[in-house]
Amino acid sequence: MSNQNFRSILTGSFSTPCAGNPTVRMIEAGYAAAGIDARYINCDVKPENLREAVRGARAMEWIGFNCSIPHKIKIIEHLDDLAESARLIGAVNCIANRNGKLIGNNTDGQGFLASLKSVVDPAGKRVLIMGAGGAARAISVELALAKVSHITIYNQELEAAQNIAKIVNENTEAKAEAHEWSSTVKVPEGIDIVINATSVGFGDAEAIADVDVNTIKKNHIVADVIPNPPNTKLLRESAARGATTVHGLGMLVNQGRIGVKIWMDKELDADVMKKTLSNIFGV
Ligand code: NDP
Repeated sequence: MSNQNFRSILTGSFSTPCAGNPTVRMIEAGYAAAGIDARYINCDVKPENLREAVRGARAMEWIGFNCSIPHKIKIIEHLDDLAESARLIGAVNCIANRNGKLIGNNTDGQGFLASLKSVVDPAGKRVLIMGAGGAARAISVELALAKVSHITIYNQELEAAQNIAKIVNENTEAKAEAHEWSSTVKVPEGIDIVINATSVGFGDAEAIADVDVNTIKKNHIVADVIPNPPNTKLLRESAARGATTVHGLGMLVNQGRIGVKIWMDKELDADVMKKTLSNIFGV
């Protein structure tokens, strides 16, 4: 009789469509490098099957899983509790199984913050965020909890930007204001950090949000959430004007690392994960 353990730790992701999501490669490369016997299973879960998928993860004692589009809000009704920032953000992308209780976290904003902190401590800074979708919401809440002084949010649909500003103003010490994005955005005086949190640039290296790039200066830090292609036109134009740039692969790597830390209290090697993604994206 062998004493070997043939049972791997189970983790994974529920989303649809899921085939274009490279997270499985990145996390499994991290597990392998750390010598962790765990799997990350990328599952295509349709909205009508979400409840059963969560019951399955619970039944099979997965220790945690991510969820992505379109489940980040709907998943909440299947969970037992939420971490503070997930409650403020109103969306969950990372679930931990604590002795059978499923706890929802949101690591998108935390992943962004970790990536941003590689170039600047945002405490006391003034930030301009373009977009007011799920990523913008998560980033705004985490930046506010990280004590930025002020957030200016531009979005085509004003109400979404106003909702984020309200969450920030009512729950944190940071101040936030919302603007309708009806004409070209000019980066106002006094801004330190400019963030593209729209989906503009995803899958299109020539796409750029409607911002006057000549208002971007060398003292600015410009960050983009777009992971693919990572070197977006906004970042190229900003770098050409001397600004410091932060691309979306760092956010992806860090939200993955934070998730694994929540699930099993282990640190994965960021360089191994970054290299895996760089090979996939050819950057
Ligand atoms: P949502 O669909 O929730 O939000 C999209 C946002 O983009 C909305 O604010 C929308 O504005 C805005 N937008 C879309 N097209 C335009 C346009 N032409 N001009 C101006 N604004 C526009 O998506 P998410 O917030 O979930 O995701 C946004 C991006 O972030 C995605 O591309 C995703 O890949 C990326 N992301 C990256 C992560 C990473 O780890 N790097 C993690 C999570 C997301 P409106 O409301 O007016 O329509």
